Amino acid sequence: MSQAARCYVEISRSQIAANYRAARDATAPGTGIMGVVKANAYGHGAVEVARVLCAEGARWLAVSSVEEGAALRRAGIDCRILVMAGVMRWEEQALRDCRLTPVAHSLDDLRRFDEIPGDGLEPLQVHLKIDTGMNRLGTRAGAAEIAEAVLALRHVRVEGLLSHFASAADFTSEQTDAQIRAFSGMWADLEKHGVRPALMHFASTNALAYPRREAWLSLVRPGHAIYGYVSPARGHAPPPVLAVKPALSWKTRIIAVKDVPAGSKIGYGGSFVAASPMRLAVLAAGYADGVPHRLSNKGKVIAGGRFAPIVGTVSMDLTTIDITHSPQLQPGGEVTLLGQEGDVALDAQGIARTAGTISYTVLCGISARVKRFYID
Ligand SMILES: *Cc1c(COP(=O)(O)O)cnc(C)c1O
Repeated sequence: MSQAARCYVEISRSQIAANYRAARDATAPGTGIMGVVKANAYGHGAVEVARVLCAEGARWLAVSSVEEGAALRRAGIDCRILVMAGVMRWEEQALRDCRLTPVAHSLDDLRRFDEIPGDGLEPLQVHLKIDTGMNRLGTRAGAAEIAEAVLALRHVRVEGLLSHFASAADFTSEQTDAQIRAFSGMWADLEKHGVRPALMHFASTNALAYPRREAWLSLVRPGHAIYGYVSPARGHAPPPVLAVKPALSWKTRIIAVKDVPAGSKIGYGGSFVAASPMRLAVLAAGYADGVPHRLSNKGKVIAGGRFAPIVGTVSMDLTTIDITHSPQLQPGGEVTLLGQEGDVALDAQGIARTAGTISYTVLCGISARVKRFYID
């Protein structure tokens, strides 16, 4: 398909839905799917993705910030929304106003949320994160101390207990098993102290795809898988139980085509020198659109149904490719930065490998000026 835009992504709603169903079918029954739509749904558009997931029956979504949650509410998204990455002081009231469910990362967070003025009737539902060994967010307090704080709350109900894996795709590491032991130990100890949250969740994409069933619990929190990706595993991983496919393809157009003689230096710094006469195409996408600068002289795109190498450095708004072997290409023609033409495909993981980064940053890096189009 082709859109009237110089640089755009096309997102398949049906593929997002299929990926969600794949996660649901892999974990059912008993485990719900909390679709992670933070960071504008990894570049896919949070509102559109949230609508697809809700239409598929999702009861929970997860975002990073109160702002992201409030934007979903303004768009009419009605399901439960978990705010995973902290609540600023000035955002506290919006938790109640927008019916958002915050994650508390410390006992002080719990006490702070307990002070937010409410209607005096409905407690604020909060999920408490336990640091099980990642040493990022989450409380490191012991069960007795946590229980004392929880039982003293007046306006907050601790509805959920969660944690997050540091190395779930790495089967050469013991860290995942240690984290699972720490979490179930905490759960058992809290129960002894009279605290029994209704929900528990731990797994994101990797612990779902390379099944760590002990960590599936009430909910799983996939993000990457919803968008069609599972990270490669290290060591002796079990075969993935999820078959998902990318939902996004990224295209741009040729602005100019030119023939240059041998010896021509191409782009800033003259870092590429043509060894023989060649035909170039200048594309309407650069690092300001999210094309990684690290693809300079290394990456490729799909042009005319075959790979075409990026030559010279990626500029802010432009990227130059070698189309010597596709002489039919003309200005105005479309080129695929990420996606598929016939049986030639380029996905975010392939791009990330070349750029020395991870697929997450490729997807999140597709900038706001790249137009989003949704197809069924
Ligand atoms: C981003 C995030 C997820 C989703 O991770 P994926 O690897 O994309 O599935 C789950 N939980 C937390 C706390 C996160 O920050």
